[in-house]
Amino acid sequence: MSLNDHLAAVHQRIEQAAKAAGRNPQSVSLLAVSKTFPAADVARVAALGQTAFGENYVQEAVDKIAALRAHWPELAWHFIGPLQSNKTRDVAAAFDWVHSIDRLKLAQRLNDQRPPGRGLLQVCIQVNVDGEFTKSGVRPEEASALAVAVAALPNLRLRGLMCIPEARADVAAQRAPFVRLRLLRDAIAAEHGLTLDTLSMGMSADLEAAVLEGATIVRVGSALFGQRPAPPR
Ligand SMILES: *Cc1c(COP(=O)(O)O)cnc(C)c1O
Repeated sequence: MSLNDHLAAVHQRIEQAAKAAGRNPQSVSLLAVSKTFPAADVARVAALGQTAFGENYVQEAVDKIAALRAHWPELAWHFIGPLQSNKTRDVAAAFDWVHSIDRLKLAQRLNDQRPPGRGLLQVCIQVNVDGEFTKSGVRPEEASALAVAVAALPNLRLRGLMCIPEARADVAAQRAPFVRLRLLRDAIAAEHGLTLDTLSMGMSADLEAAVLEGATIVRVGSALFGQRPAPPR
């Protein structure tokens, strides 16, 4: 299958799940996760109308963004991977979104390092919805306090929550962590009067479950670009 066919198939999956949930398919946006794939592949997908791309590795992403900027200035770049404090400066300069905020120090550094004139950096807080199984993300009971602190930073705009659940076999089981993220988002928004319009959840294997539970951004890599090469070292 070509990239064109893959993209159409992903859009169709989103549309069917949205319709099954009684949602407008337009309320779900596709983030094309291009990590480990070359700039040429991003350009091919961009030529098909896709504008939002997700990356995990800072140096790889910075190089790719620079290579594509001249021809594709309209692309939006989302950082979705684990972020080390010593890499925040590059991320603050190159990206439009960061989905993986899991501690205040990261948010403060991104806020302080956001270049003037670059506009607000859109951010989500990553929540560890699976407890002991994974280590990335803030614990659910700590998400509310982190959200309040992040929302107060002037160069960031807190948009919502993100999660990466453990793989689960069927849609019913996949929905459980996504329900938890949605309810947590609703509770934090209500408690603090915050507008949190984003639920970044769902990947190639579980995007239907995520859309059924209210995902507004699904992050899709392999279903679009094919099997990933090994990550850069
Ligand atoms: C790699 C990655 C994805 C895409 O995963 P696929 O299973 O290839 O769709 C989505 N989100 C995050 C945070 C990732 O690291």
